Amino acid sequence: MGYKSDTIAAISTAMTTSGIGIVRMSGEEAFSIIDRIYRGKKEKKLSSEKSHTIHYGYIVDEEAEIDEVLVLLMRGPHSYTGEDTVEIDCHGGVYVTKKILETVIKYGARPAEPGEFSKRAFLNGRMDLSQAEAVIDVINSKNEYALKSSVEQLKGAVKKKIDVIRNDIIYHTAFIETALDDPEHIEIDGYGKKLKVVVDENLLRIKQLLDTADDGRVMREGIKTVIVGKPNAGKSSLMNVLVGEERAIVTDIAGTTRDVLEENIQLQGISLNIMDTAGIRQAEDLVEKIGVDKAKLNAGQADLIIYVVDASLPLDENDYEIIEMIKDKNAIILLNKTDLSTVITKQMLKTKIEKPMIEISAKEETGIHELENTLKDMFYHGNVSFNDQVYITNIRHKTALKAAYESLMKVNDSIENQMPEDFFTIDLMDAYEALGSITGETIGEDLVNEIFSKFCMGK
Ligand code: GDP
Repeated sequence: MGYKSDTIAAISTAMTTSGIGIVRMSGEEAFSIIDRIYRGKKEKKLSSEKSHTIHYGYIVDEEAEIDEVLVLLMRGPHSYTGEDTVEIDCHGGVYVTKKILETVIKYGARPAEPGEFSKRAFLNGRMDLSQAEAVIDVINSKNEYALKSSVEQLKGAVKKKIDVIRNDIIYHTAFIETALDDPEHIEIDGYGKKLKVVVDENLLRIKQLLDTADDGRVMREGIKTVIVGKPNAGKSSLMNVLVGEERAIVTDIAGTTRDVLEENIQLQGISLNIMDTAGIRQAEDLVEKIGVDKAKLNAGQADLIIYVVDASLPLDENDYEIIEMIKDKNAIILLNKTDLSTVITKQMLKTKIEKPMIEISAKEETGIHELENTLKDMFYHGNVSFNDQVYITNIRHKTALKAAYESLMKVNDSIENQMPEDFFTIDLMDAYEALGSITGETIGEDLVNEIFSKFCMGK
């Protein structure tokens, strides 16, 4: 029982010149359209070929040959969308791929909306919503950790965890409702006590998932990092070392506001999004360097603060102010300029603040490897294995988990206050619905449309 629909088509590869381009079609007409525009060596129509086969030939519009292609046939339901799907691999020029798309549209397909292939996969039950969302995350992954965790989600890791909780909830809700309908045969007195054990267990499960949410965001988006330190401590020098290292890949990310820029740096698979680097990197030309005030502003939103201390000079007021500011935050202290004779030591700083400390020299580029290792320890507790760990990386999922958690807490309140049993079921069902919104089982059409509209074209 599928979701019946017209035939959609899109270019699934990037719109730049490349080796190959892929035009994809999905829907009831996909095979009959390809029959009319494909010409191979054999007379046989592609629609009578076996599923999951590849065919060499030409795309033609009546007599005109458009390109030499490979055509992949995937018959529903064994395709990404669950529908009959045809993929045309052509030469990767922008013009030629567009021309092929135009041809399939001319013969009856319609241009797909962004994410429409994945939306159909969801509507046809090929994957749940958390898996579909993982598809975008895989595409957008910026580092190894993000990719691994998205691939786990794609395999249905989140859904599995959610299903366990939902099954528990629905079982007990059904039991209570049945008992209330048939009090003569089903005993429900004292059920609250039993239910509380189940609710507590599921509260714990939800909490464990929620606990991964912040790590999850860090993995997906990178660690929001702010570099602080008094003027001349060596912030811009450090930045330049990090950016200049061969291992660093640098891209500019436009921030949410115009003047906050982030620079993404990859250190051994860890992404640091260093905020306000525009300011830091230009600092050498500015009379007033990025100071404590600006840092304060950014530090509030940061996952990590890197505090650069000029170890060749005594601490001053600026330093004391920064130390106060970062006391309760995730921070790493870098004692810079250790190539010079130093007056600040780790021991001395330790009497003032307890944070990981590393001696570096931005000038001589020493200590950077240790910085990377410390970062790894801080955020991934050494070497995280993703095999059995599910990370919540999606804000929507986090919100739903929180709602479910609150509803289950209400069930516990009702049990404690000895409320009638039908009170339990109302909140149990709220939790059930909230969790179902993660997998897409209880979700409105508008939200589904909104989620898939964030996909890229052709996916
Ligand atoms: P910022 O104001 O914190 O961004 O500091 P800069 O990176 O502009 O550095 C201030 C000055 O300290 C510059 O002249 C740098 O060359 C120098 N400097 C930075 N790091 C080191 C270091 O590790 N050793 C030495 N000897 N000088 C450094």
